[in-house]
Amino acid sequence: MAEQASVYDIVIVGAGPAGLTAAIYARRAEKRVLVLEANSYGGQIINTPDIENYPVEAHISGFDFATKLYEQTKALGAEIRFEKVTGVREGDPKTVETVKNTYAARAVILATGSENRKLGLPGEDELVGRGVSYCATCDGAFYRKKTVAVVGGGNTALEDALYLAGLAETVYLIHRRDAFRGEESTAARLKARENVRILYNSNVTKLKAEARLTGIEVTNKLTGEVTGLAVNGLFVAVGRIPENQNFASLIELDEAGYAVAGENCRTRAEGVFVAGDNRTKEVRQLVTATADGAVAATAAIQYLAARK
Ligand code: NAP
Repeated sequence: MAEQASVYDIVIVGAGPAGLTAAIYARRAEKRVLVLEANSYGGQIINTPDIENYPVEAHISGFDFATKLYEQTKALGAEIRFEKVTGVREGDPKTVETVKNTYAARAVILATGSENRKLGLPGEDELVGRGVSYCATCDGAFYRKKTVAVVGGGNTALEDALYLAGLAETVYLIHRRDAFRGEESTAARLKARENVRILYNSNVTKLKAEARLTGIEVTNKLTGEVTGLAVNGLFVAVGRIPENQNFASLIELDEAGYAVAGENCRTRAEGVFVAGDNRTKEVRQLVTATADGAVAATAAIQYLAARK
């Protein structure tokens, strides 16, 4: 039988950097906090082998970062449960439903993040961190003077290819159509780079590996021609899927599925806040996720204070 819940001040959905930072701020304000996480703590940062762009820590693995953050959050007295949230109902208090239980919350912070859209190729999951990456700014530095490929045609792929062109010896940009979805001005800068080769109308159809990625096969959609490319790294930038599906009737989502909220992390639902990668924003980085956690928790604390 489902547990009978007493009322939490703040229920946080997601134990990634945004959610756990929100929990730290909420606990330091002595709020009764429950964090609900569907998978393991840490979110997508646990896939990053070496974080080099977070202030103070020159090098830390994503797993170590997440574990330290988790332990810090637990030590401050936040309750963390591993249950997938299936929905949130408005009310006073709000109702947070998981696959196992129902919880009552005066305020809710949605910090569910987003997941990378994958190519769906055999071996793709196993090669993450061993040649396959979904984040050029996180992992690009490992490919200095090497050969890499970027797949995608949106702004992320164009900017990733530009960024990598400054590090790698050769960058292949592989796009499935003959026109980019991303901005023309970025595409023009890319085309001017001597070490960038653009393959249009092409899909990556095979990953080759010996313990780590050694190459890819690219198939031209128009001619059917298959080309083998020896690459050290493949950066997949074919879009992201924000994990807001279970909150579509609660908050406003944009056409890509991101929760519409400004820098104050407030949604259209009273007492419901959003933090991290599932929010509409320009820069989705670890440091902006933790910043969102602080902002959303502060907004939730202010909301609770105003209702006393
Ligand atoms: P996106 O705009 O959705 O582009 C995804 C790209 O991946 C598209 O070119 C798409 O091809 C391709 N694609 C999708 N599924 C694929 C598959 N299975 N195989 C091969 N290719 C596939 O995603 P994004 O580039 O991550 O950008 C997301 C949003 O953030 C956009 O609104 C973007 O403008 C914005 N953004 C802005 C900036 C900036 O302003 N500086 C930087 C980064 C991102 P098709 O074109 O054929 O659909």
